[in-house]
Amino acid sequence: MLSSEELKRFVNEAKKVAKDGEVATYIPELGKANPNDLAIAIYYPDGSFVSAGEVHKKFTLQSISKVISLALVLMDRGYDYVFERVGMEPTGDPFNSIAKLETMVPAKPLNPMINAGALVVTSMIKGDTVEERFQRLLNFIKELSDDDTVEFNESVAQSEFETAHLNRALCYFLKQHSIITEDIEQLMDLYTKQCAIEMNCLDLAKIGLVFAMDGVNPLTGKQIIPREIARICKTFMVTCGMYNASGEFAIKVGIPAKSGVAGGIMGAVPGKYGIGIFGPALDDKGNSIAGIKLLHLLSKNYKLSIF
Ligand code: GLU
Repeated sequence: MLSSEELKRFVNEAKKVAKDGEVATYIPELGKANPNDLAIAIYYPDGSFVSAGEVHKKFTLQSISKVISLALVLMDRGYDYVFERVGMEPTGDPFNSIAKLETMVPAKPLNPMINAGALVVTSMIKGDTVEERFQRLLNFIKELSDDDTVEFNESVAQSEFETAHLNRALCYFLKQHSIITEDIEQLMDLYTKQCAIEMNCLDLAKIGLVFAMDGVNPLTGKQIIPREIARICKTFMVTCGMYNASGEFAIKVGIPAKSGVAGGIMGAVPGKYGIGIFGPALDDKGNSIAGIKLLHLLSKNYKLSIF
């Protein structure tokens, strides 16, 4: 097991690159983050953990929520229903790109980790009202993180809801092609709340651990996500989890991981540990710049690549 001194050394080393990144500002509320923050927690299957940095600071999941909504929707609707509406292929385009949709026949998004695909996934969450659908997702996240205090950040959700013009455009395009059928304002309400679900690195590492352990919470033995669905999610984390830098990340780090524009990264080292990272300064692809450096250092020193 890593000692917290070692982890602190890695954090200090990785922090040096934070100055080369920038916090996201296209969701105005995210622009308030401190670009120098860097925190990490690593959870082990026996329930012990090691952490370093500002581990109690909360951040919103943003795109990390896409893996979790995918797991829920696969449990809700099954493999065929979901993959008739969203594809399985990585893309070299940015996460919010609209370009490929127009040339795809049928117009379904390439994968569930880009915004177009994630919006389709969110539209598949079952329930009669937005409130009910959101509570189902939130309860699932509470169970995965083993923390029933997890909530969403209303200011961040509102800030995105007011400015999500590109996401609305993606939704309307997909509605034109009957991939999305519900009211778009209702979907944006649900999606922006989903992305604004907030937690710290410790909780994120616990969720990563459930994926690492094939869907089982190792402490209770409960299978929260069916093994096959956890496998599918981890595969998407490898092929599409780090936006259009997923290929380079797979080569340099080799850990199934998903990042979000608030600076979070969730890692799942199969059978070994769950990782939660928060470092809000982003690189030009939208990944936490110091977070990637930190994972690089860990992977190299502890041979964590799955390949
Ligand atoms: N809520 C963000 C959006 O839809 C999530 C993007 C991300 O974290 O990559 O733009």
